[in-house]
Amino acid sequence: MALSLDGNTGEAKLLKVYNTLSKTLDEITPIDPGVVKMYTCGPTVYRDAHIGNLRSYLMADWVRRILEMQGLKVQHIKNITDVGHMRQEVLEQGEDKVIAAAIAEGKTPAQIAQFYTDRFLADETDLNIHRPMELPKATDHIPEMLEITEELVEKGFAYVVDGNVYFSVSDFPEYGKLSGNIHEEELLEAVRVEADPNKRDPRDFTLWKSAEEGRTVKWPSVWGDGFPGWHIECSAMSIKYLGREFDIHTGGVDNIFPHHEGEIGQSEAFTGKPVVNTWLHGQHLLADGVKMSKSSGNSFILSDIQAKGIEPLAFRYLCMTARYRTRLNFTFTSLKAAQRGLHRLKSRVWEWSNLPEGEAVDDEASTEWQGKFLDRLNDNLDIPGALAVTWAMAKSGISGQTKLAIIREFDKALALDLESVNEQFQVPADVLAKVTERATAKSKKDYAESDRIRRQLDEDGYVLQDTASGARVRPKAAWEKVDEARNTVSSAAEVPSLVNQPDTHDVTIGIVANNYKDDVKRVVESALKWTGDRNAETVVVDNGSTDGTSEWLDAMAASEPRVRVIHADHSLGEGAAKNIVLKQSLGRTVVLVDTSVEITGDIYGPIDAYLDRDDVGLVGPFGLRTDDLHHFHDGEGESGNMDAMQAYCFAFRRDSLRDVGLMRESFRFYRNLDIDFSFHFKEQGHGIMADQSIPVVLHEHRVWSELAEGERDELSLKNYRRFLEKWGDRADLLVSGNGANGHSHEHGDDHDHDH
Ligand code: AMP
Ligand code: ZN
Repeated sequence: MALSLDGNTGEAKLLKVYNTLSKTLDEITPIDPGVVKMYTCGPTVYRDAHIGNLRSYLMADWVRRILEMQGLKVQHIKNITDVGHMRQEVLEQGEDKVIAAAIAEGKTPAQIAQFYTDRFLADETDLNIHRPMELPKATDHIPEMLEITEELVEKGFAYVVDGNVYFSVSDFPEYGKLSGNIHEEELLEAVRVEADPNKRDPRDFTLWKSAEEGRTVKWPSVWGDGFPGWHIECSAMSIKYLGREFDIHTGGVDNIFPHHEGEIGQSEAFTGKPVVNTWLHGQHLLADGVKMSKSSGNSFILSDIQAKGIEPLAFRYLCMTARYRTRLNFTFTSLKAAQRGLHRLKSRVWEWSNLPEGEAVDDEASTEWQGKFLDRLNDNLDIPGALAVTWAMAKSGISGQTKLAIIREFDKALALDLESVNEQFQVPADVLAKVTERATAKSKKDYAESDRIRRQLDEDGYVLQDTASGARVRPKAAWEKVDEARNTVSSAAEVPSLVNQPDTHDVTIGIVANNYKDDVKRVVESALKWTGDRNAETVVVDNGSTDGTSEWLDAMAASEPRVRVIHADHSLGEGAAKNIVLKQSLGRTVVLVDTSVEITGDIYGPIDAYLDRDDVGLVGPFGLRTDDLHHFHDGEGESGNMDAMQAYCFAFRRDSLRDVGLMRESFRFYRNLDIDFSFHFKEQGHGIMADQSIPVVLHEHRVWSELAEGERDELSLKNYRRFLEKWGDRADLLVSGNGANGHSHEHGDDHDHDH
């Protein structure tokens, strides 16, 4: 079939993509006729690639497949950023617990890198991403990096200070041509990370950094032992494998600055001419509305998807529903929809491939559909458009045999394993026999029997489908079984608010559970034990638990009418999870308790007594005071008026939510969310009262203690900044003069902030 021909005109068409450098749609015309050279910024292998990273690699894979479908060869290189370069700092600060644990176990950086490389390649295989021709590792290319760096120094594009080498941005006038007017903010961020008095210009970036005392991962150079900067590896490896001029360079949009801007400076100062023709950048995958990244705590890896019984290719399908320059918000709800879409497509293919032999393929129709399909793909990778063409073709009037022939060609680009459907849907002979039995029963109008057989098949894990060519049976997919098991929510937005409905209970005990089953059990059971003759309900949001907590909660809810569970299909941010509790509560009083808490007596009586007072809107055992909004003290051993209430036990009347509102969902991490929400109470004139005699015991706060120090600090600081941004000038809300006697904690899970 003439795939490079347009169905209507017979003219060859080429792939056009948006070039970040020229800011226009550029045709991919290979420098070497017939061979497209493409470089993809690959994974950092001291952690798993998350599905956001994988979206970027899918984009590159589609580029390659589309070019290959049209008869071009693609020489594709994807580097492996293994340990050794500057971003390893992050690793050494112990940001990553996995890596810290591996090093503690005596694993070498190279072993860790190999481990994550293998996992990355397995993920790519599961997503049908073609393996590149080469996967060069950064640490195998130190000599090449040094060669470029030396030459940049010789040519005056770089300078040396104390064994460090810097790229001199002011000597490369075209610096900034990729990213345009460099955003002040990003530049400052880059400067903050690389604050260095040796730089002549804050925009300058490191090419080589001298090794500090005690550093083990380092290499010799003419400037002494050291290690490379972040960007130089891609200049070195792209030039080595693809030459001084090549066609396409891909990455995510966050790579544009500083990484690719730096790469252009280095490579072009080195070769003296433009190196890359087309820069192609994919937009981000978001989760809960913000860029997916490990440090934001909203990243998922492919095995999280597989753990829910969803096929990795459903994620590929999901990415096909948005164009690459559009942000895509990931939710399990949309992933499940994609899974169903993929399944429907497979069911069609299954049907077509089981048609009786006979009808010939209609070549004319085939050429026409393929022309339409390629038109979409060539138009700046309009994969959603190509998918729409696929469905239009599937629903069209052409014969099943022709559809089958066409879909086989389409699948070279879609890569959804549509061919393997017969294997996947295969069932044992005895199950097939049941289908025949059922047909016989039906023909005898014995519907009781035919229904019984259908139910039996369903219980055994098979799905009976009545199609145009008779009844067919296939195994139930893993995701269909998971779907049946439990209803889940993907966001707080999809949970209805009952805030304005009348109270149906005296008290709601609100809990957010995320793993640590024994802790969850302790808090739920102890909370219910002391409710006395109050009409109490417990609302638990199971925030993406994976350790059996969900099952325990389901069993509890089945046997205990006072417990209601709402399962989130992944770990929502703390603000969002708590808002689900708030929206679903129906008690006059709401008591939010943390899973590290054990309730050891009647807390509800004292809480209600305080909330009956006009001057108290928020109460709990552990308050906080501050003089300056920067240092919060827990007023050790003290009760009385407070500036904030700690989340361990946080009680208020439900009707106050009508003026206080819900929590801010930008707080993904729990810490400082309680302070922020407390200020919502203060702002509305609700007093905050602590009483340390309220009988609760604090156990280890595992959400905190299981985090690495670096992670805690970063997450806490992010939230603290959010708090300050909103409340920084509201000292007027503070309880005057009280903070002075407070005791400031240095460490631990208190709320002290030193700035
Ligand atoms: P890294 O391992 O951080 O170097 O990232 C690997 C690739 O994934 C780079 O091309 C990034 O631009 C890209 N990337 C990072 N985060 C996301 C995201 N949330 N969505 C899409 N691509 C991303
Ligand atoms: Zn790169």
